Order: sequence, then C-alpha cells, then structure tokens
Amino acid sequence: MVSALIERRLERLEQVSGGDECPRCANTQVIIDCSGNINVVKDQARLTAEASRRFYEEEQPHGQCPACGNFRHKVVVGWGPRQ
Ligand SMILES: [Zn+2]
Repeated sequence: MVSALIERRLERLEQVSGGDECPRCANTQVIIDCSGNINVVKDQARLTAEASRRFYEEEQPHGQCPACGNFRHKVVVGWGPRQ
C-alpha cells in the first residue's frame, strides 16, 4: 500500500521534472478498442464511457490536446480490420 503510493509519487516527480507535460496529458492514455469504444485512463483510473468520449472529442479532429497542443498517442487494443 505504502510502497505503491511512493511509486506513484515518484512517477509524478519524473513526469514533472522530465518535461513540460500538461496536467491533461500527464499519465493519460487514450485506448480505442476494435469496436471503436474509447477508454481514457488517467493516473491508472479509467474514466467513465461518457467522460472518455468527451475527452476524446475535445481532441478531434487531429488528436491534439487543447491544453498544451501536443499530439496524443492513441493505443488501439484488440483486432481491427486490416488496412
Ligand atoms: Zn496536454
């Protein structure tokens, strides 16, 4: 319990000192599964489906963070159709 907390704090410190990541982007992952469901995971907690969709739509059409302008890396999970 305690060590997990310390680990998270260290991760945060690394994020803060490692760059100019904005609060919206830090520790945030956008995951889209093969059915097109959007999942946003922030600080290892999953946002609700509605919050995830809103988060994602705010960054459309280019997947760009409205707060800092960085482009987000999307992670697609599952088997999608071949392109
Ligand atoms: Zn950002």
